[in-house]
Formats: sequence, C-alpha cells, structure tokens
Amino acid sequence: MEMFAVVCSSSINFEPKIPNIQRNLDFWKDQENPANILILDIDSISRLHAHLSLPTTLSLLKAMNYLEFKGYHSTGAFTLKNCLPVLLREALAQQTEHQSQHEQHDCPLIRKFFHDQNFVTTFLEDGEGSCNWGGQGGFTAPPTDYYFQPMVKALRAMRLASFSPRTTWWTRELYTNCMSSESVPEFLLRYTRQFTEKFFNAPFFSFTWLAYPFHENVFTLASIDDPLKEFFQYLQENTYLLDNTVIIFISDHGDRTSFFQSASIEGFIERSLPPLFVRIPPKFRQALPMIHINAMKNTKQLVTPYDFHHTLLHALNVFTSPEESVFDSFSPSLSDRSSIFEEISRDRDCESVNIPLNNCVILTVYTNEIIMY
Ligand SMILES: [Zn+2]
Repeated sequence: MEMFAVVCSSSINFEPKIPNIQRNLDFWKDQENPANILILDIDSISRLHAHLSLPTTLSLLKAMNYLEFKGYHSTGAFTLKNCLPVLLREALAQQTEHQSQHEQHDCPLIRKFFHDQNFVTTFLEDGEGSCNWGGQGGFTAPPTDYYFQPMVKALRAMRLASFSPRTTWWTRELYTNCMSSESVPEFLLRYTRQFTEKFFNAPFFSFTWLAYPFHENVFTLASIDDPLKEFFQYLQENTYLLDNTVIIFISDHGDRTSFFQSASIEGFIERSLPPLFVRIPPKFRQALPMIHINAMKNTKQLVTPYDFHHTLLHALNVFTSPEESVFDSFSPSLSDRSSIFEEISRDRDCESVNIPLNNCVILTVYTNEIIMY
C-alpha cells in the first residue's frame, strides 16, 4: 500500500507509507536528532540572475548569515548534467551506463543514504522535465517517503488536454502552472513548509526542485521573490527548525534559451555560474567550528555539483554520528571532489574537478566552438 486517505468532516488527508515513517519516528524518540537537510533548487538561474530578480530573498539570506559560494560552477549546460552529480555523484555518461544495468529505484541516489539512517525523506518536483532519474521521464517507484511529482504531472496533463486549439498561449501558461488558487511553485513551497512542520522532530531530508515556469522563461523569476522570501522568513521565525536544519538554496545552471541565448558570451557565462547559498545552524558551528571556518574559506573557491553531493554525505557523517563514521571508507576530500566543510585546494581547475572544458569559464578563450550548443 502506498497511501491511504484520512477523511475528517469535509477534509481529506493522504498519508503515505505510515509504517516506514513511524519506524523512523520511533527510532529517534529517545535520541538527539542530527541536522535536518533542506534543499531548495530553482532550475535555470545564474547567481547574477538571482541577485537581479530575487533582491528581497537574497537580502534576507544575507541577514541570516547564509554563505554564498561565489565560485559555484555548473558541470554542463543542461539539467541532468548538473543534477545527476548531485543526486548520484555520477556524470551523464556514467549514469547512462548505470541506468542500463539497474532499475531506477535501485540506484544509490543521495536520499538513500539518509533513508538508511532513518531520516524521513521527500523529493518534490514539478513538471516532466525536471531533475528526475531515467532520462527525465520520472521514477518507476517513489524515490522518497513523500513524492509529489505524479500529482503535478497528472494535473498538467489534464489541464493541457482540456485546452481547445483556440486557447491562447498565455491562458495555457497560466493554468498549466497552477494548483487551484496558487501557482505550482507557491504550492510546492507551501508543501515543503508543511513537511518541515510535520517532521520537525524526525529528522528529515527534503529536496524541492522548482523548474516551471523559470526553466522556460527567464523573466518569470522575479514573480517568486516574495513567496520565496516568505518561505525563508518562515524558517527564520521557527527557531525549532532553524536551529537544527542545514538549509541550501541552489540552481543547476543559468538560462540558455531566452534572454541569454546559448550562442552569446553572456549565455556562456550565465549558464556556467549558478547560485549556491548554505546556512549551517549556530549549534553545529559551535560544536564543529572547523566546518564553518572551512566553508567560509570555500566561498571563494571553485565548487561543483560533485562537491555538493560529497558535502551531503559529509553532513550525514558528522551531523549524525560525529564519533563514528556512518560510512566505512568515507573521505571528505578526494582528488576530484570535496566536502565544502573541508578546506578546498586553491589549485583546482576545470579539468581536475570534472567540468567539461566547453562549459568552463576559468581561463577560457572565447570561441564559437566553446559557446555553441
Ligand atoms: Zn536545468
């Protein structure tokens, strides 16, 4: 059984996989919780675009001491080339090979490590072409305890089928990106918020990926500034969450299709430099001061999605079991990737950290061959 419905008066609530989740809650009942992990990813924005279109959100993040990683660099112009290193630590070629050998739900996605350590997990994403495994076709089985994408996908399909040939494009845009009275991004932010409220004492691993309409239209990002600020403000005001949650705000790559077309030098720079903001709660900064000191130093270093994946593993290790490693042979720093909680070498270049040279903005000679996709 995947879900069951609880009907109370005129309200219906759907609860998934209660036995698994209850087992996790029971596990942590008499123990101190490790840090929750909360990741919010918006597709197709560069760091510069975030600063220009999300000014109120970013000023709040600055006031809340989020670390901004100015050297965060994408590993490709497309979503999968960036999200698979985060989810699976593998590049596209490797994961294609992996996919041919394994069922999707058997893959060692990052959430699995948290699930195995009794975290309650969720992976929220909208439309059909976001960061989901299997050529972006979606998972064949729910990858996390809570997985909402089939509902959004079905709603979009239903709405698209209801349009007549005479329906204007702006009506299609408006209704395919809406859940009843709010937009899909606003709905998913609210869903994420409710998930954190529900499992504040779990701990939890929450990954929310918003792709639409930002992926299709670079000009729409400013419309999410206020809802996004309210989302982070909610976390700020609820100290029981803030004090125990590592919060990450990130994108995969910058725009390449609308204003910043791929054939422009602006597009080349834009798509290579997405934002990465991280907040480590004060109690973990005090308990593990080097983690924050190293992270601060790394805000000026070259950092990649592989480092992000490695950081999540490191976070699971140090925040869950500081005395004893969760993984037998985990090393926070490897030759081509490192946790951002370790001091990252200044000698890195694109080649040494798996950034394709046609996507590299470091010491790059600008040619059409490099920028054309
Ligand atoms: Zn993308």
